[in-house]
Amino acid sequence: MIVISNQAAVGKGLLDPARLEEITVKMQQALLQDGTPLAAAYYCTHRSDENCVCRKPKPGLLLEAASDFNIDLPRSIFIGDSETDVRAAQAAGSRPLLFGLGLQVSSDTADWKSKVPFATTAQALFLVAAGCLGEKTLMGPRDRSSASFGRDN
Ligand SMILES: [Zn+2]
Repeated sequence: MIVISNQAAVGKGLLDPARLEEITVKMQQALLQDGTPLAAAYYCTHRSDENCVCRKPKPGLLLEAASDFNIDLPRSIFIGDSETDVRAAQAAGSRPLLFGLGLQVSSDTADWKSKVPFATTAQALFLVAAGCLGEKTLMGPRDRSSASFGRDN
């Protein structure tokens, strides 16, 4: 798994980069306890007004991760919880997947959301992700596809 996240709080001076690193290490440890190695975390720390190439919905960080890890984007899924994540996945040529409890109660039928598969529980997420990849198992040893989880803070 690779995390790709907007963390403009750093660019705004609200979050110390060292603290973000600590949070990343804790996230890495928690995921590993669950049996999921975190290959990398990519952060855009720019403010939105800096107009960088890496802040989602721009695909910069997805493309960078794909290059760094030789990821086949059309065969990969990008899990997110916002329109920003969906747009970034689409711009990178990857497959978006929405995850979050908020989606369950939302009556929003916006166009960006209508064709994107979504899940509201971890179990459903696993099944939907496997379905997206057209495979019975997800991320097997010979499968080069990757799942990514986008956060947009
Ligand atoms: Zn950026």
